[in-house]
Amino acid sequence: MAEKLSAVKGMNDIAPPASAHWEWLEDTLRALMRRYGYRNMRTPIVEPTALFVRGLGEVTDIVEKEMYSFEDRLNGEELTLRPENTAGVVRAALEHSLLYDGGKRLYYMGPMFRHERPQRGRYRQFHQFGAEALGFAGPDVDAELIVLACDLFAELGLTGIELEINSLGQAEERRAHRQALIAYLESHADLLDEDARRRLHSNPLRILDTKNPAMQDMVNAAPHLMGFLGAESLDHFNRLRSLLDALGIGYRINPRLVRGMDYYNLSVFEFVTTQLGSQGTVCAGGRYDGLFEQIGGKAAPAVGWALGMERILELLKEQGRLPEVPAPDAYAVVPDASSVPLVMPVLRALRQHGVSVQMHAGSAEGMGSMKSQFKKADASGARFALIFGADELQQGVVSVKPLRGPRPGEGAGEPLAQVSRPLAGVSAWAGSLRQH
Ligand code: ATP
Ligand code: MG
Repeated sequence: MAEKLSAVKGMNDIAPPASAHWEWLEDTLRALMRRYGYRNMRTPIVEPTALFVRGLGEVTDIVEKEMYSFEDRLNGEELTLRPENTAGVVRAALEHSLLYDGGKRLYYMGPMFRHERPQRGRYRQFHQFGAEALGFAGPDVDAELIVLACDLFAELGLTGIELEINSLGQAEERRAHRQALIAYLESHADLLDEDARRRLHSNPLRILDTKNPAMQDMVNAAPHLMGFLGAESLDHFNRLRSLLDALGIGYRINPRLVRGMDYYNLSVFEFVTTQLGSQGTVCAGGRYDGLFEQIGGKAAPAVGWALGMERILELLKEQGRLPEVPAPDAYAVVPDASSVPLVMPVLRALRQHGVSVQMHAGSAEGMGSMKSQFKKADASGARFALIFGADELQQGVVSVKPLRGPRPGEGAGEPLAQVSRPLAGVSAWAGSLRQH
Protein backbone atom coordinates (compact mmCIF):
# COMPACT_ATOMS: atom_id res chain seq x y z
CA MET A 1 0.00 0.00 0.00
CA ALA A 2 1.11 3.54 -0.70
CA GLU A 3 2.21 5.65 2.24
CA LYS A 4 -0.68 7.32 4.06
CA LEU A 5 -0.94 11.08 3.59
CA SER A 6 -2.37 13.45 6.16
CA ALA A 7 -3.34 17.11 6.30
CA VAL A 8 -0.68 19.75 6.93
CA LYS A 9 -0.09 20.35 10.64
CA GLY A 10 -2.36 23.06 12.02
CA MET A 11 -4.74 22.82 9.05
CA ASN A 12 -8.05 21.09 9.69
CA ASP A 13 -10.60 19.17 7.69
CA ILE A 14 -14.15 20.14 8.52
CA ALA A 15 -16.40 17.12 7.96
CA PRO A 16 -20.06 16.43 8.79
CA PRO A 17 -21.61 16.85 11.29
CA ALA A 18 -19.34 19.79 12.30
CA SER A 19 -19.58 21.32 8.81
CA ALA A 20 -23.31 21.88 9.44
CA HIS A 21 -22.41 24.15 12.34
CA TRP A 22 -20.13 26.13 10.04
CA GLU A 23 -22.90 26.51 7.48
CA TRP A 24 -25.29 27.66 10.16
CA LEU A 25 -22.80 30.26 11.42
CA GLU A 26 -22.14 31.46 7.86
CA ASP A 27 -25.89 31.76 7.15
CA THR A 28 -26.42 33.70 10.38
CA LEU A 29 -23.59 36.07 9.48
CA ARG A 30 -24.86 36.66 5.94
CA ALA A 31 -28.39 37.40 7.11
CA LEU A 32 -27.12 39.85 9.74
CA MET A 33 -24.88 41.66 7.24
CA ARG A 34 -27.81 42.09 4.89
CA ARG A 35 -29.75 43.81 7.65
CA TYR A 36 -26.85 46.18 8.31
CA GLY A 37 -26.35 46.92 4.60
CA TYR A 38 -22.92 45.29 4.22
CA ARG A 39 -22.18 43.52 0.95
CA ASN A 40 -19.97 40.57 0.16
CA MET A 41 -16.40 41.08 -1.09
CA ARG A 42 -14.24 38.20 -2.34
CA THR A 43 -10.54 38.57 -2.98
CA PRO A 44 -7.85 36.01 -3.92
CA ILE A 45 -6.25 33.84 -1.25
CA VAL A 46 -2.81 34.54 -2.75
CA GLU A 47 -1.55 38.14 -2.89
CA PRO A 48 1.79 39.79 -3.70
CA THR A 49 4.00 39.57 -0.58
CA ALA A 50 4.60 43.33 -0.77
CA LEU A 51 0.93 43.97 0.03
CA PHE A 52 1.35 42.56 3.54
CA VAL A 53 4.86 43.86 4.14
CA ARG A 54 3.70 47.38 3.31
CA GLY A 55 0.18 47.09 4.66
CA LEU A 56 0.81 45.36 7.99
CA GLY A 57 4.29 46.74 8.71
CA GLU A 58 7.65 45.02 8.81
CA VAL A 59 7.99 44.71 12.58
CA THR A 60 4.76 42.85 13.20
CA ASP A 61 4.47 39.23 14.34
CA ILE A 62 2.70 38.34 11.11
CA VAL A 63 5.28 39.76 8.73
CA GLU A 64 8.29 38.86 10.87
CA LYS A 65 7.47 35.20 11.32
CA GLU A 66 3.99 34.02 10.43
CA MET A 67 3.58 34.36 6.68
CA TYR A 68 3.47 31.52 4.17
CA SER A 69 5.51 33.20 1.47
CA PHE A 70 6.93 31.60 -1.65
CA GLU A 71 8.31 32.37 -5.03
CA ASP A 72 6.16 31.51 -8.04
CA ARG A 73 8.19 28.79 -9.78
CA LEU A 74 7.20 29.97 -13.22
CA ASN A 75 7.75 33.71 -13.09
CA GLY A 76 9.59 34.37 -9.83
CA GLU A 77 6.85 36.59 -8.34
CA GLU A 78 6.97 36.87 -4.52
CA LEU A 79 3.61 35.62 -3.26
CA THR A 80 1.97 35.04 0.13
CA LEU A 81 -1.06 33.10 1.35
CA ARG A 82 -3.16 35.84 2.93
CA PRO A 83 -2.64 36.02 6.72
CA GLU A 84 -5.59 38.44 6.98
CA ASN A 85 -7.98 40.07 4.52
CA THR A 86 -8.11 43.78 5.31
CA ALA A 87 -5.09 44.58 3.13
CA GLY A 88 -6.58 42.51 0.28
CA VAL A 89 -9.94 44.28 0.50
CA VAL A 90 -8.25 47.70 0.45
CA ARG A 91 -6.07 46.67 -2.49
CA ALA A 92 -9.18 45.55 -4.38
CA ALA A 93 -11.06 48.75 -3.48
CA LEU A 94 -8.19 50.79 -4.94
CA GLU A 95 -7.74 48.59 -7.98
CA HIS A 96 -11.44 48.83 -8.91
CA SER A 97 -12.06 52.40 -7.62
CA LEU A 98 -14.83 51.05 -5.42
CA LEU A 99 -15.05 54.34 -3.53
CA TYR A 100 -15.65 56.49 -6.62
CA ASP A 101 -19.27 57.14 -5.62
CA GLY A 102 -18.87 57.14 -1.86
CA GLY A 103 -18.15 54.83 1.05
CA LYS A 104 -18.66 51.10 0.88
CA ARG A 105 -19.68 48.65 3.57
CA LEU A 106 -18.21 45.23 2.85
CA TYR A 107 -17.82 41.83 4.46
CA TYR A 108 -15.80 38.70 3.70
CA MET A 109 -15.24 35.26 5.09
CA GLY A 110 -12.73 32.58 4.35
CA PRO A 111 -9.45 30.88 5.20
CA MET A 112 -6.37 32.79 6.41
CA PHE A 113 -2.88 31.37 6.89
CA ARG A 114 -0.35 32.02 9.63
CA HIS A 115 2.61 29.91 10.60
CA GLU A 116 1.97 29.79 14.36
CA ARG A 117 2.32 27.06 16.96
CA PRO A 118 -0.95 25.11 16.65
CA GLN A 119 -3.00 24.88 19.85
CA ARG A 120 -6.62 25.25 20.92
CA GLY A 121 -8.03 28.30 19.12
CA ARG A 122 -4.84 28.83 17.12
CA TYR A 123 -4.32 27.13 13.78
CA ARG A 124 -2.21 27.59 10.67
CA GLN A 125 -5.22 27.63 8.39
CA PHE A 126 -8.08 29.33 10.21
CA HIS A 127 -11.18 31.22 9.14
CA GLN A 128 -12.05 34.82 9.61
CA PHE A 129 -15.26 36.67 9.08
CA GLY A 130 -14.60 40.36 8.62
CA ALA A 131 -16.57 43.57 8.18
CA GLU A 132 -14.96 46.67 6.66
CA ALA A 133 -16.48 50.15 6.25
CA LEU A 134 -14.37 52.00 3.67
CA GLY A 135 -14.52 55.74 3.08
CA PHE A 136 -16.20 56.78 6.35
CA ALA A 137 -14.35 58.98 8.84
CA GLY A 138 -16.83 59.50 11.66
CA PRO A 139 -17.06 57.57 14.91
CA ASP A 140 -20.65 56.65 13.98
CA VAL A 141 -19.40 53.87 11.72
CA ASP A 142 -17.02 52.65 14.42
CA ALA A 143 -20.04 52.37 16.72
CA GLU A 144 -22.07 50.68 13.99
CA LEU A 145 -19.44 48.00 13.57
CA ILE A 146 -19.28 47.42 17.32
CA VAL A 147 -23.05 47.14 17.74
CA LEU A 148 -23.12 44.81 14.76
CA ALA A 149 -20.72 42.45 16.52
CA CYS A 150 -22.80 42.70 19.73
CA ASP A 151 -25.93 41.80 17.77
CA LEU A 152 -24.16 38.82 16.29
CA PHE A 153 -23.16 37.46 19.69
CA ALA A 154 -26.70 38.04 21.00
CA GLU A 155 -28.22 36.29 18.01
CA LEU A 156 -25.90 33.33 18.44
CA GLY A 157 -26.91 33.16 22.10
CA LEU A 158 -23.37 33.80 23.33
CA THR A 159 -22.76 35.40 26.71
CA GLY A 160 -19.71 36.47 28.67
CA ILE A 161 -18.04 38.36 25.82
CA GLU A 162 -16.61 41.69 26.92
CA LEU A 163 -15.72 44.72 24.87
CA GLU A 164 -12.45 46.56 25.36
CA ILE A 165 -11.71 49.79 23.53
CA ASN A 166 -8.84 52.22 23.26
CA SER A 167 -7.67 55.04 21.04
CA LEU A 168 -4.32 54.93 19.27
CA GLY A 169 -4.60 58.56 18.22
CA GLN A 170 -2.71 59.71 15.15
CA ALA A 171 0.84 59.03 13.99
CA GLU A 172 2.34 62.27 15.46
CA GLU A 173 0.68 61.62 18.82
CA ARG A 174 1.99 58.10 18.83
CA ARG A 175 5.48 59.38 17.99
CA ALA A 176 5.49 61.72 20.96
CA HIS A 177 4.21 58.96 23.22
CA ARG A 178 6.76 56.56 21.81
CA GLN A 179 9.62 58.86 22.72
CA ALA A 180 8.33 59.25 26.25
CA LEU A 181 7.79 55.50 26.48
CA ILE A 182 11.29 54.63 25.27
CA ALA A 183 12.76 57.09 27.78
CA TYR A 184 10.66 55.52 30.55
CA LEU A 185 11.63 51.96 29.57
CA GLU A 186 15.29 52.92 29.30
CA SER A 187 15.13 54.31 32.81
CA HIS A 188 13.97 50.81 33.89
CA ALA A 189 16.46 48.93 31.73
CA ASP A 190 17.35 46.56 34.59
CA LEU A 191 13.77 45.17 34.53
CA LEU A 192 13.54 44.54 30.77
CA ASP A 193 13.68 40.94 29.57
CA GLU A 194 15.42 39.90 26.36
CA ASP A 195 12.29 40.22 24.23
CA ALA A 196 11.64 43.72 25.56
CA ARG A 197 15.22 44.82 24.97
CA ARG A 198 14.98 43.63 21.38
CA ARG A 199 11.75 45.60 20.87
CA LEU A 200 12.80 48.73 22.77
CA HIS A 201 13.50 50.72 19.63
CA SER A 202 11.65 48.71 16.97
CA ASN A 203 8.25 48.34 18.65
CA PRO A 204 8.16 49.64 22.26
CA LEU A 205 4.35 49.65 22.32
CA ARG A 206 4.37 45.87 22.11
CA ILE A 207 6.43 45.69 25.30
CA LEU A 208 3.30 46.86 27.15
CA ASP A 209 1.71 43.59 25.98
CA THR A 210 4.27 41.48 27.86
CA LYS A 211 3.11 38.42 29.77
CA ASN A 212 6.26 38.47 31.95
CA PRO A 213 5.05 38.80 35.58
CA ALA A 214 8.30 40.44 36.65
CA MET A 215 7.59 43.35 34.28
CA GLN A 216 3.88 43.91 35.09
CA ASP A 217 4.24 46.66 37.71
CA MET A 218 6.74 48.51 35.58
CA VAL A 219 4.62 48.43 32.39
CA ASN A 220 1.47 49.31 34.33
CA ALA A 221 3.10 52.56 35.42
CA ALA A 222 4.39 53.41 31.91
CA PRO A 223 3.11 56.62 30.27
CA HIS A 224 -0.25 56.06 28.56
CA LEU A 225 -0.86 57.08 24.98
CA MET A 226 -4.16 58.63 26.08
CA GLY A 227 -2.20 61.39 27.78
CA PHE A 228 -0.64 62.35 24.44
CA LEU A 229 -3.82 62.58 22.39
CA GLY A 230 -4.78 65.96 20.95
CA ALA A 231 -8.25 67.50 20.95
CA GLU A 232 -9.37 65.92 17.66
CA SER A 233 -8.40 62.40 18.62
CA LEU A 234 -9.99 62.77 22.03
CA ASP A 235 -13.15 64.11 20.45
CA HIS A 236 -13.36 61.12 18.09
CA PHE A 237 -12.92 58.76 21.03
CA ASN A 238 -15.43 60.55 23.24
CA ARG A 239 -18.03 60.59 20.47
CA LEU A 240 -17.57 56.84 20.01
CA ARG A 241 -18.03 56.41 23.75
CA SER A 242 -21.26 58.40 23.85
CA LEU A 243 -22.65 56.40 20.92
CA LEU A 244 -21.87 53.16 22.75
CA ASP A 245 -23.56 54.60 25.83
CA ALA A 246 -26.61 55.55 23.76
CA LEU A 247 -26.73 51.99 22.46
CA GLY A 248 -26.44 50.57 25.96
CA ILE A 249 -23.21 48.77 25.11
CA GLY A 250 -20.91 48.22 28.07
CA TYR A 251 -17.16 48.48 27.55
CA ARG A 252 -13.90 48.78 29.37
CA ILE A 253 -11.19 51.21 28.31
CA ASN A 254 -7.96 49.26 28.07
CA PRO A 255 -5.07 51.71 27.61
CA ARG A 256 -2.78 48.74 26.88
CA LEU A 257 -4.80 47.57 23.88
CA VAL A 258 -2.49 48.19 20.92
CA ARG A 259 -3.35 45.51 18.28
CA GLY A 260 -0.78 43.63 16.23
CA MET A 261 -0.89 45.52 12.94
CA ASP A 262 0.76 48.85 12.20
CA TYR A 263 -2.16 50.16 10.18
CA TYR A 264 -4.48 51.07 13.05
CA ASN A 265 -5.22 54.60 14.31
CA LEU A 266 -7.87 56.20 16.55
CA SER A 267 -10.42 53.57 17.67
CA VAL A 268 -9.26 50.03 18.36
CA PHE A 269 -11.31 47.35 20.08
CA GLU A 270 -11.42 43.70 21.01
CA PHE A 271 -14.14 41.35 22.16
CA VAL A 272 -12.72 38.95 24.71
CA THR A 273 -13.91 36.01 26.77
CA THR A 274 -12.34 34.17 29.67
CA GLN A 275 -13.95 30.88 28.56
CA LEU A 276 -11.46 29.89 25.85
CA GLY A 277 -8.25 29.68 27.82
CA SER A 278 -5.45 31.89 26.59
CA GLN A 279 -6.93 32.32 23.08
CA GLY A 280 -9.72 34.54 24.39
CA THR A 281 -9.99 37.24 21.71
CA VAL A 282 -12.90 36.33 19.48
CA CYS A 283 -13.16 39.53 17.45
CA ALA A 284 -10.78 42.42 16.97
CA GLY A 285 -10.50 45.54 14.88
CA GLY A 286 -10.24 49.27 14.64
CA ARG A 287 -9.79 52.26 12.42
CA TYR A 288 -7.10 52.23 9.74
CA ASP A 289 -7.20 55.61 8.01
CA GLY A 290 -3.60 55.29 6.78
CA LEU A 291 -3.79 51.96 4.98
CA PHE A 292 -4.98 53.21 1.59
CA GLU A 293 -1.97 55.53 1.31
CA GLN A 294 0.38 52.93 2.74
CA ILE A 295 -0.30 50.60 -0.15
CA GLY A 296 -0.03 53.32 -2.77
CA GLY A 297 -3.55 54.72 -3.10
CA LYS A 298 -5.36 57.95 -2.45
CA ALA A 299 -6.03 58.41 1.26
CA ALA A 300 -9.41 57.23 2.52
CA PRO A 301 -10.64 56.64 6.08
CA ALA A 302 -11.71 53.13 7.00
CA VAL A 303 -12.62 50.94 9.95
CA GLY A 304 -13.28 47.22 10.35
CA TRP A 305 -12.99 44.09 12.42
CA ALA A 306 -12.35 40.39 11.96
CA LEU A 307 -13.62 37.54 14.04
CA GLY A 308 -12.10 34.11 14.38
CA MET A 309 -14.74 31.63 13.28
CA GLU A 310 -13.06 28.65 15.00
CA ARG A 311 -13.05 30.52 18.29
CA ILE A 312 -16.71 31.51 17.93
CA LEU A 313 -17.68 27.90 17.21
CA GLU A 314 -15.59 26.71 20.15
CA LEU A 315 -17.34 29.19 22.42
CA LEU A 316 -20.76 28.14 21.07
CA LYS A 317 -19.86 24.56 21.93
CA GLU A 318 -18.60 25.58 25.36
CA GLN A 319 -21.90 27.35 26.06
CA GLY A 320 -24.10 24.58 24.59
CA ARG A 321 -25.34 26.87 21.83
CA LEU A 322 -24.62 24.79 18.75
CA PRO A 323 -27.85 23.93 16.92
CA GLU A 324 -28.91 20.36 16.26
CA VAL A 325 -27.53 19.07 12.98
CA PRO A 326 -30.45 19.08 10.53
CA ALA A 327 -31.81 15.65 9.56
CA PRO A 328 -33.63 14.89 6.30
CA ASP A 329 -37.41 15.22 6.36
CA ALA A 330 -37.86 11.72 4.96
CA TYR A 331 -35.99 8.52 4.18
CA ALA A 332 -37.18 6.38 1.24
CA VAL A 333 -37.42 2.65 1.97
CA VAL A 334 -37.34 0.71 -1.29
CA PRO A 335 -37.76 -3.06 -0.77
CA ASP A 336 -37.14 -4.08 -4.36
CA ALA A 337 -34.45 -2.82 -6.75
CA SER A 338 -36.87 -3.15 -9.69
CA SER A 339 -38.99 -0.28 -8.25
CA VAL A 340 -36.13 2.21 -8.21
CA PRO A 341 -37.02 3.62 -11.69
CA LEU A 342 -40.52 4.38 -10.35
CA VAL A 343 -39.30 5.76 -7.05
CA MET A 344 -36.61 8.16 -8.20
CA PRO A 345 -38.94 10.50 -10.15
CA VAL A 346 -41.28 10.70 -7.13
CA LEU A 347 -38.37 11.65 -4.84
CA ARG A 348 -37.24 14.20 -7.37
CA ALA A 349 -40.68 15.80 -7.41
CA LEU A 350 -40.69 15.91 -3.60
CA ARG A 351 -37.33 17.65 -3.57
CA GLN A 352 -38.62 20.15 -6.12
CA HIS A 353 -41.31 20.93 -3.58
CA GLY A 354 -38.74 21.64 -0.90
CA VAL A 355 -38.74 18.28 0.91
CA SER A 356 -35.35 16.92 1.90
CA VAL A 357 -35.41 13.23 1.25
CA GLN A 358 -32.70 10.61 1.35
CA MET A 359 -33.10 7.50 -0.81
CA HIS A 360 -31.98 4.15 0.51
CA ALA A 361 -28.99 3.18 -1.60
CA GLY A 362 -28.74 -0.46 -2.63
CA SER A 363 -25.67 -2.62 -3.05
CA ALA A 364 -24.63 -4.64 -6.09
CA GLU A 365 -26.69 -7.54 -4.63
CA GLY A 366 -29.93 -5.63 -4.06
CA MET A 367 -31.64 -3.28 -1.64
CA GLY A 368 -31.17 -5.21 1.63
CA SER A 369 -33.81 -6.37 4.12
CA MET A 370 -36.67 -4.13 5.26
CA LYS A 371 -35.26 -4.40 8.77
CA SER A 372 -31.87 -3.06 7.79
CA GLN A 373 -33.49 -0.30 5.72
CA PHE A 374 -35.62 0.83 8.67
CA LYS A 375 -32.53 0.84 10.83
CA LYS A 376 -30.84 3.19 8.36
CA ALA A 377 -34.00 5.32 8.15
CA ASP A 378 -33.99 5.70 11.90
CA ALA A 379 -30.26 6.47 12.07
CA SER A 380 -30.67 9.19 9.44
CA GLY A 381 -32.76 11.16 11.91
CA ALA A 382 -35.55 11.52 9.32
CA ARG A 383 -38.99 12.27 10.63
CA PHE A 384 -40.80 10.05 8.14
CA ALA A 385 -40.11 6.82 6.29
CA LEU A 386 -41.56 6.67 2.79
CA ILE A 387 -42.28 3.02 2.08
CA PHE A 388 -42.35 2.14 -1.60
CA GLY A 389 -43.48 -1.51 -1.23
CA ALA A 390 -44.78 -3.64 -4.11
CA ASP A 391 -48.40 -3.41 -2.81
CA GLU A 392 -48.19 0.36 -2.48
CA LEU A 393 -46.75 0.84 -5.96
CA GLN A 394 -49.46 -1.45 -7.40
CA GLN A 395 -52.09 0.95 -5.98
CA GLY A 396 -50.17 4.04 -7.08
CA VAL A 397 -49.41 5.18 -3.52
CA VAL A 398 -46.59 5.41 -0.99
CA SER A 399 -46.94 4.77 2.76
CA VAL A 400 -45.76 7.62 4.94
CA LYS A 401 -44.71 6.28 8.34
CA PRO A 402 -43.84 8.68 11.15
CA LEU A 403 -40.56 7.73 12.81
CA ARG A 404 -40.57 10.40 15.49
CA GLY A 405 -42.99 12.29 17.69
CA PRO A 406 -43.80 15.97 17.34
CA ARG A 407 -40.89 18.36 17.46
CA PRO A 408 -40.33 20.39 20.62
CA GLY A 409 -42.59 23.41 20.49
CA GLU A 410 -45.16 21.70 18.25
CA GLY A 411 -47.12 20.46 21.24
CA ALA A 412 -47.75 16.81 22.01
CA GLY A 413 -50.89 16.32 19.94
CA GLU A 414 -52.28 13.06 18.60
CA PRO A 415 -49.53 10.57 17.78
CA LEU A 416 -49.02 10.78 14.06
CA ALA A 417 -50.50 7.88 12.10
CA GLN A 418 -49.22 6.09 9.02
CA VAL A 419 -51.02 7.31 5.89
CA SER A 420 -51.08 6.51 2.16
CA ARG A 421 -50.30 9.25 -0.33
CA PRO A 422 -50.87 9.22 -4.10
CA LEU A 423 -47.76 9.12 -6.29
CA ALA A 424 -49.50 11.31 -8.86
CA GLY A 425 -49.51 14.94 -7.69
CA VAL A 426 -47.07 15.00 -4.75
CA SER A 427 -47.61 18.76 -4.54
CA ALA A 428 -50.80 18.11 -2.55
CA TRP A 429 -48.97 16.42 0.33
CA ALA A 430 -45.28 17.41 0.05
CA GLY A 431 -45.92 20.25 2.51
CA SER A 432 -46.91 17.82 5.26
CA LEU A 433 -43.38 16.34 5.21
CA ARG A 434 -41.50 19.61 5.17
CA GLN A 435 -39.82 20.98 8.23
CA HIS A 436 -41.70 24.07 9.36
P1 ATP B 1 -3.83 36.77 18.67
O1 ATP B 1 -3.42 37.84 19.63
O2 ATP B 1 -4.76 35.74 19.28
O3 ATP B 1 -2.69 36.16 17.93
P2 ATP B 1 -4.27 38.55 16.48
O4 ATP B 1 -4.21 39.91 17.07
O5 ATP B 1 -3.10 38.00 15.77
O6 ATP B 1 -4.76 37.50 17.60
P3 ATP B 1 -6.10 39.36 14.40
O7 ATP B 1 -5.08 39.40 13.37
O8 ATP B 1 -6.65 40.62 14.95
O9 ATP B 1 -5.59 38.42 15.60
O10 ATP B 1 -7.30 38.45 13.90
C1 ATP B 1 -8.65 38.63 14.32
C2 ATP B 1 -9.17 37.39 14.97
O11 ATP B 1 -8.85 36.22 14.21
C3 ATP B 1 -8.56 37.09 16.33
O12 ATP B 1 -9.18 37.83 17.33
C4 ATP B 1 -8.84 35.60 16.48
O13 ATP B 1 -10.17 35.40 16.90
C5 ATP B 1 -8.67 35.10 15.06
N1 ATP B 1 -7.35 34.50 14.87
C6 ATP B 1 -6.17 35.14 14.67
N2 ATP B 1 -5.16 34.26 14.48
C7 ATP B 1 -5.73 33.02 14.56
C8 ATP B 1 -5.22 31.68 14.45
N3 ATP B 1 -3.96 31.44 14.19
N4 ATP B 1 -6.10 30.66 14.59
C9 ATP B 1 -7.40 30.88 14.84
N5 ATP B 1 -7.93 32.12 14.96
C10 ATP B 1 -7.12 33.18 14.82
MG1 MG C 1 -1.55 36.64 16.26
